[in-house]
Formats: sequence, structure tokens, C-alpha cells
Amino acid sequence: MNSPLATVNKILTYSCVDGPGNRLVIFLQGCNFNCVTCHNPYTVGLCDHCGACIPTCHANALEMVNGQIAFDPSACDQCDACLDICPISSSPMVQHISVEDILEIARKNKPFLNGITVSGGEATLQLKFVIALFEEVKADPELKSLTCFVDTNGHLGGQSWGRLLPVTDGVMLDIKAFNTALHHGLTGQDNAKTLKAAKTVQDAGKLYELRFLVIPGKTDTAAEIESLTSFARALGPDIRVRLNAFQHHGVRAEAEDWETMAKTGIDKIAAHLRKAGIPEVITPAFYL
Ligand code: SF4
Ligand code: SF4
Repeated sequence: MNSPLATVNKILTYSCVDGPGNRLVIFLQGCNFNCVTCHNPYTVGLCDHCGACIPTCHANALEMVNGQIAFDPSACDQCDACLDICPISSSPMVQHISVEDILEIARKNKPFLNGITVSGGEATLQLKFVIALFEEVKADPELKSLTCFVDTNGHLGGQSWGRLLPVTDGVMLDIKAFNTALHHGLTGQDNAKTLKAAKTVQDAGKLYELRFLVIPGKTDTAAEIESLTSFARALGPDIRVRLNAFQHHGVRAEAEDWETMAKTGIDKIAAHLRKAGIPEVITPAFYL
């Protein structure tokens, strides 16, 4: 098989929060948003091999080889000092992995899996790899029962959705904010593509859930919640909305000083959405 390599930050062989059932999750490196609220900020940048992280590694797990950062997993004790120092929110510990490598991991864990989810970073930035992976899963007699899901910020053009959706079983789509200026302030990007993508994915019957991060004083305002309610209702009667509560883990810059979102506030918004006719509203199991 001659398929593209993915730049991978992390692989989980067991996750029950990244789509239905137990899933193999591949976190792809690199994102086109730069959210101050990101819980995995070291998945945002693509390493430019500057070498700034090498002196921070007390375990000698990093070195420069022919102008490229080289990582020795056997020496690493996962102290994360290299992640903290990286000036572009990247990681020197990424792996370059083929579709066949992922299929092999899926085969080994198949008895425990319901499906595969690509996440990030922003998974759709490595679209060629994602499409190749999903095509191979569906063509493999041993793996074809696994569902293929994408966790995305939706910042992808219509033509690319046209290539991705036929091989995808479900999409979890994050909407960061409805107000354009607020969205830009939270992510560094416009929200027009994301809002359009929600409709495209729903029309294709592939929208598993909308996700919305509730931040006190920012996205919990009456205007944002009304926008979420009317947007979700307009997508159809079977829409599922997951509310996430803003917490401090991993966040950067001014977001470190923002108030966290409490359960009482989330429950109130969930009750409002249910009353407005949204049939399925999921709230966090934990507030950490
Ligand atoms: S996480 Fe691993 S590679 Fe990074 S600084 Fe710590 S020991 Fe070194
Ligand atoms: S991970 Fe960051 S600090 Fe380390 S070499 Fe790459 S860009 Fe530089």
C-alpha cells in the first residue's frame, strides 16, 4: 500500500468520549485555529525544528540530526518540559505513521473497539491521510464493522467535505461561538465555514453531534445561547448537542484568568435547549 504518512501527536486505544462506544482515537498534529481555550495546545503547531526544546530535556531524549529534531521514546519519562518551552505550541514527540500502521493497531484492539475517530489538532488538515485511512478500514474484511468518525472544528471547504463525507460515518463538529467577532477573538478565525459545514454534514446524514464550549461571560450570554438554540433547531428534529464546560486545564494567555463554568450554569442552559425542542442535550460527566 502506498499511502500518505500522518503527523500524529498521540494515539489512544481506548476512549469512550470521542464518539459512540469504545474507540481508537488518533490525535493528528497541527490546527488551523489557535484557541486560547484549547486543552491540548501542544497539538496546534507543526514543528519547525528550531531546537529550543533540546536543552530542556533532562533525559537526553531529544537531539538534532541533520537539521531535524530526533526523539528517543525509550529515554523519555513524559515530563512535558519540551511542550512547555515550545514557542509555536508544537511537540518534538510526534510520530509519522502510515495507514497500515493504524490498521495494525486497530486489528490488535479490534475485539474491544466500536470504531475509529480522528481528532487533533484539526484532523481535516491531513485530509488525504484521513480519507485513505477510512477507505482502507471499509475495504478490510476484518475491520469494516468499525465506524469512522471525525472530530473537527468544521473549517473545511465544501469540495473537501464532498470527498470526506462518503467515507465517514459520523462527524462531531465544534462551534466555538456564533458572534463573528467573538469567534475570531477565541480562535483567530472566522466562523462562516464552520456554520456552513454543520448544514452540509447534517444534510448528508452524518452529523453525530454539535459541540459547544460554554465560557462564562463569553459564550453563556443570552445572545449566544439563543443563537445556539435556533441554529440547532434549524438543522432538524434529530439534532444532538453536547455542552462542554470551560475549565482551566491546558488553556493559555488571558483564558488562564477566566472564570470556569459551573454545573449549575450548564444545567440551566441544557434545560433551556431541551425546552426549546432539542431532543438530546449532553452535559459533562465531570467538572475538573
Ligand atoms: S517529555 Fe520526554 S522528550 Fe520532552 S522534555 Fe520530558 S523527557 Fe524530554
Ligand atoms: S518542538 Fe517546538 S521547540 Fe522543539 S524543535 Fe520543534 S518547534 Fe522547536
